Amino acid sequence: MDQDQPGNPVYVSCPLSNEVLSGERDIDNLTFDYRGLSRRGISMMGDEIVEIDSVKHAVVGKGGAVYNYDKLILAPGVSFDFGAIDGMSAELADTRIQHAWKAGAQTRLLRQQLKAMPDGGLCAIVATPNPFRCPPGPYERAAQIALYFSHHKPKSKVMIFDAKDAFSKQALFQAGWKEHYGDMIEWIPAAAGGEIEAIDADSMTLTGVVEDFHADVISLIPRQRAAELAFANGLTDASGWCPVDQQTFASTQHPDIHVIGDAVIAGEMPKSGYAANSQGKVCAMAVVAALNGQPAPAPS
Ligand SMILES: Cc1cc2nc3c(=O)[nH]c(=O)nc-3n(C[C@H](O)[C@H](O)[C@H](O)COP(=O)(O)OP(=O)(O)OC[C@H]3O[C@@H](n4cnc5c(N)ncnc54)[C@H](O)[C@@H]3O)c2cc1C
Repeated sequence: MDQDQPGNPVYVSCPLSNEVLSGERDIDNLTFDYRGLSRRGISMMGDEIVEIDSVKHAVVGKGGAVYNYDKLILAPGVSFDFGAIDGMSAELADTRIQHAWKAGAQTRLLRQQLKAMPDGGLCAIVATPNPFRCPPGPYERAAQIALYFSHHKPKSKVMIFDAKDAFSKQALFQAGWKEHYGDMIEWIPAAAGGEIEAIDADSMTLTGVVEDFHADVISLIPRQRAAELAFANGLTDASGWCPVDQQTFASTQHPDIHVIGDAVIAGEMPKSGYAANSQGKVCAMAVVAALNGQPAPAPS
């Protein structure tokens, strides 16, 4: 079982998964079980939660099990809006046009496609508008693919089609690309026609605002929003993300439900594992304080 799915006994780390694409790392090396938590006395239920009853303070698992709570902490991650680009679908992502933005089976498939691509081919990365999980991720992915090409397929190219005109750590990335891979990576910002409106997977064609592009391998990273569990249970707002009190990470909609990680909008904090980890600590301290009748500590 190598795909992170709700209730799975393993978790596949997105951080470092771009290195699987260059062949520098095996995905088994990024696959973790939860024994570390069990050793700390945390009970792992291995269940997918399908419903939150904020009135009864209970969550319901896929098989009907009911778990009661005083405080509920959710870190459900992101979901994808495939409809924003014509011709794109969840089915295509699982078969031919991988986003690999939840590491696992799609990461392996994308690696296989890169290996099968002839030298002289083009790999297109379609980068999504803000906000999204891991702002530097698409640009790190370009570098890892170029690393593989430079050793094994030196006539090949990576093109990034972007819905934005600027990106995280842009100057560093562009200097690094140039230094290590020459002209192998090309970034096309929205202002230069980088925004993609449609995809035809049969002809491997991307329809841009200005012109069409053919590619041999396409990694299309879809627009993102909070995970379905948050949507279905009224924890999101019009932005598609979960608003929270940033001192406690309590949902502004349901005060006994706390949300952390990529699903929240929390000021300038990026959707990164690093931020999720910090939010978890702030949230845990606030929940412990509340259960002890104390005021929430003031985080820095
Ligand atoms: C290519 C890539 C590279 C990255 N590199 C970095 C990096 O170098 N550094 C960094 O800090 N961050 C990095 N990130 C970002 C990082 O992976 C995320 O920010 C982080 O995983 C967010 O954690 P989360 O808990 O919010 O969501 P997730 O890690 O997605 O965890 C959510 C969990 O909730 C489970 N879940 C969802 N719904 C349910 C349900 N209904 N019932 C039960 N379980 C459910 C999911 O199965 C999943 O296990 C990277 C991301 C990508 C895509």
